[in-house]
Amino acid sequence: MEVAIMGAGLSGLSCAITLERYGITPTIFEKRNIVGDRFVNAEAMFSILNRPTKNWLPYLAENYHINLTPIDEVDKLFIHSKNMIGSIDGKIGHTNVRGRHVDSFENQLSKQVKANIKFNSTYEYKELCKDFEYVVLATGDGEYASRLGNYRCDLTCTIKGATVQGEFTKSNPHVWFNYEILPKGYGWLIPFSEKEADLVMAYPDYPDNIELDINDMWGKFYNLACVNLDQSLIITDKFEVTRYMMGICDKPKIDNTYFVGNCFGAISPGLGFGQYASILTGIYSAYDICNLGTYEELCTPLFENYNHSLVFRRFMESLTDDEIDFGVKNSNKKLLDKLIDKLCSNDSSIELLKLSTPLMRLWNNYKGVKS
Ligand SMILES: Cc1cc2nc3c(=O)[nH]c(=O)nc-3n(C[C@H](O)[C@H](O)[C@H](O)COP(=O)(O)OP(=O)(O)OC[C@H]3O[C@@H](n4cnc5c(N)ncnc54)[C@H](O)[C@@H]3O)c2cc1C
Repeated sequence: MEVAIMGAGLSGLSCAITLERYGITPTIFEKRNIVGDRFVNAEAMFSILNRPTKNWLPYLAENYHINLTPIDEVDKLFIHSKNMIGSIDGKIGHTNVRGRHVDSFENQLSKQVKANIKFNSTYEYKELCKDFEYVVLATGDGEYASRLGNYRCDLTCTIKGATVQGEFTKSNPHVWFNYEILPKGYGWLIPFSEKEADLVMAYPDYPDNIELDINDMWGKFYNLACVNLDQSLIITDKFEVTRYMMGICDKPKIDNTYFVGNCFGAISPGLGFGQYASILTGIYSAYDICNLGTYEELCTPLFENYNHSLVFRRFMESLTDDEIDFGVKNSNKKLLDKLIDKLCSNDSSIELLKLSTPLMRLWNNYKGVKS
């Protein structure tokens, strides 16, 4: 059986590992000259966003033999709003590293793949369709799905970030919701060692935001992070991503082409998390090819999760800085704190995003926001 995988990232490599487990050797095409040849980027994944799965990394290892070692387990997430600082305490997820870093998730996955990867590939999708029985599109964006008329783009984002040096507690990422500086966007700091972290801001490309000066925003955000962390962060590397697409395909599979990872719509519009769904879609496409399941059916919960997350995004966009301050202030109340810990912990299987979607819809309607 001839299977081409276009893209050696999270979804493509997870597909390859799974196919090989069931005796199929795919041909993997990667346009870059090594796996993960992009800026080093620390990412995170919180268990609450992957329900009903409780703890995603052990789940992937036990059920699908995809073995990934994180940087650390998150035991405290700091939340900064315009005038407040709160936190969620407890084992709520993991941080990991991406890109050129030796321990990046893509590097870890590539070590579990036996097939050779054809680097510097210039193959087009149409050429692969001619030569292979199955094509798995895993290129990390919705471009191909869009060109095939199979993608609904809900928003695009501008992302600017840097690797910074300082003093960090590895298990304590920070997130900022401050619309005065980042309208309808957010920023985060994720350490990948005690001395290095990624400081990143992301905001949607809405007409009002496009007029803003990105360097000015970055300057303000960087200064805010330095003040909140009470240290002068040293920038050692910078990156910028423009028009990062958040959307979802209409059909996860057309004929013998599979849309996986961000080509599927793995990235959740709420907070931009896409790693878990990317890996799952890679695995599920392989299951379909091996006749172990139906890709469309396996993807159904991922479609649902995407839609809940879109409601969450619209909800977040509808809030004012004062309302976010109010939420952060009250999240520090002891009882609520306990409840949040319980809901967010790795041991909980409560689908908070799904359960709160009707309430967020009501709120969005009240605020006149379409969701
Ligand atoms: C700045 C940033 C921060 C993020 N933070 C988080 C986070 O904290 N948590 C989280 O869960 N998610 C996060 N995400 C999202 C997550 O990284 C993605 O959802 C995930 O990597 C998508 O996996 P993928 O397999 O679709 O693509 P990728 O892992 O990006 O792999 C795509 C691969 O395809 C290759 N390729 C592209 N075009 C071609 C072609 N024509 N031919 C051959 N190969 C090609 C690329 O070179 C690349 O190797 C973040 C994304 C960004 C940009």
